[in-house]
Amino acid sequence: MAKGSIAKGKDFDAIIVGGGPGGLAVGCLLAKEGIKSAIIERAPALGGRFRSVKFHGCRADSAVHFFASQFGSAEKTFCYKLFNHLGLPLKNKMVPWTMGLVTKEKPGKIDYFAMDPKLGAENFFEFFAFATGVSMSDESKKEIKRIAAITEDMSLEECRKVVNVSFADWVDRNVGDPIVQAILGGMAPIIGAPVKDVNFGMVANSLGTFNRVGSIHIWYPKPGPLEDAIIAPLAKYYKEHGGKVITSRRVRSINIENRRATGVVAQDDNNCNMLEEYSSSVVICAIPIFEAVARNVIRQEYLRKDWAEAIRKCGELAIHDLSGFFLLREKVIPEKGYGWIHVFDFDYGLPTYVGDLCLGSYTNAKVPPGKQLVCSMIPGSLEATNFGLTSPMEKVREAHRRWKEAVEKAFPGFSKAIQYEGMNLQLNFTRYAYAVVPVEIDMQPPNVKGLYLAGDSIRSVSTQMSDKCFHIAFPICERVLDYLSS
Ligand SMILES: Cc1cc2nc3c(=O)[nH]c(=O)nc-3n(C[C@H](O)[C@H](O)[C@H](O)COP(=O)(O)OP(=O)(O)OC[C@H]3O[C@@H](n4cnc5c(N)ncnc54)[C@H](O)[C@@H]3O)c2cc1C
Repeated sequence: MAKGSIAKGKDFDAIIVGGGPGGLAVGCLLAKEGIKSAIIERAPALGGRFRSVKFHGCRADSAVHFFASQFGSAEKTFCYKLFNHLGLPLKNKMVPWTMGLVTKEKPGKIDYFAMDPKLGAENFFEFFAFATGVSMSDESKKEIKRIAAITEDMSLEECRKVVNVSFADWVDRNVGDPIVQAILGGMAPIIGAPVKDVNFGMVANSLGTFNRVGSIHIWYPKPGPLEDAIIAPLAKYYKEHGGKVITSRRVRSINIENRRATGVVAQDDNNCNMLEEYSSSVVICAIPIFEAVARNVIRQEYLRKDWAEAIRKCGELAIHDLSGFFLLREKVIPEKGYGWIHVFDFDYGLPTYVGDLCLGSYTNAKVPPGKQLVCSMIPGSLEATNFGLTSPMEKVREAHRRWKEAVEKAFPGFSKAIQYEGMNLQLNFTRYAYAVVPVEIDMQPPNVKGLYLAGDSIRSVSTQMSDKCFHIAFPICERVLDYLSS
């Protein structure tokens, strides 16, 4: 076909752009209601950031993926609700939330701190005090309790009102005790952004959780990597209920005429000259919104002005996180006990968070017998790494090296046992929730009919980021049904 000409594809009641967990969740809900939809996905297969990495005989998640529940138990998450609603089973296991401190002085030893959910917010702060190595006076503990109480008392609405207040500024204005300031500052990289970019509203909402339900619960699905446990059953359900999956197609633009969605134009990645048009009165955009805007998939004029500005800022702040994969010749790291550890290293002045360690066995990765798969997760938001979107490889390698050094101190023999290692940079996901950007982006631009924003597209204060793409699938499905029936 000549360049520029457009082939007409099939028509659907709804088109979903992006086949990650967010797009797939909406697709399944619509399919259950008998809506004829198609998911158009750029990659050769569905799954988005929940897809597996194949690595020297192993299959593992492409980043360390745990589910976090602000609701007190795994069964109360929206991921669970979705599976229940569709009649699909979802078994889970709880994962201990652990910190590990490594020092040169104690080779072969790692100090652990595990959360006790019963202790609530106080425990959480002690967790950070442990990490920073600072012992707290009674005065500091009192101050911590005062702050915990402030966040506990804040309603969701009050949290929303302060999403444009920087957490660092709030701490400066409201916390006198320098030890407490340091502890609060130390939380930010684990949240996923440098403290100056983190908004107080979302931090308050998360901290309030500890008081409300004791702790943020961390869990992992049982049947295997996320692709097997979450994506495969959803994809099967979707197809069996009439959903059409169109892969290796990159959506170039969402078509809007007279302020109504009319379909999409997609490019066949196997044949770059081929453009295809699919028409539908409903288009659900389930790709990161700043990518969608930067690539003109959604034109800015169709968004509210303040949303466009917020999206531009999210794009500016967007970073990559680094995952590392280490296949070990033998089992060097004890499998019993802690499978996921925040690693802090004393050798960089103050104890410094250098990233997370996760054993493949915890995330049900497939690993050849006798070998061990160790994964790292190094947030690009750490002061020392701060990859940015165009990550200089020097910084990436430096972060990877620091992490390996810290792990070697705790588990001597780790480096020697490495048979293969690999790295994977992935787009950070917490910016939507935690960055200081003054507005929430809702799931529907008010001035265009039939266009919906799903998955990581929207920015919402209220939902734990990992559960958000499942949460918003429900109201989107309701709105689409209303729209189609009108
Ligand atoms: C390092 C890292 C660690 C994370 N850890 C966790 C965790 O522990 N727990 C957790 O629950 N979540 C975690 N997440 C977040 C989780 O990955 C996202 O919340 C989730 O993937 C969002 O799903 P989504 O469907 O919105 O987007 P994605 O998974 O990004 O899916 C978007 C899909 O759209 C496709 N696409 C993009 N552009 C186009 C286009 N133009 N046309 C067609 N298709 C397109 C992509 O190929 C992709 O398949 C992590 C993310 C990262 C980066």
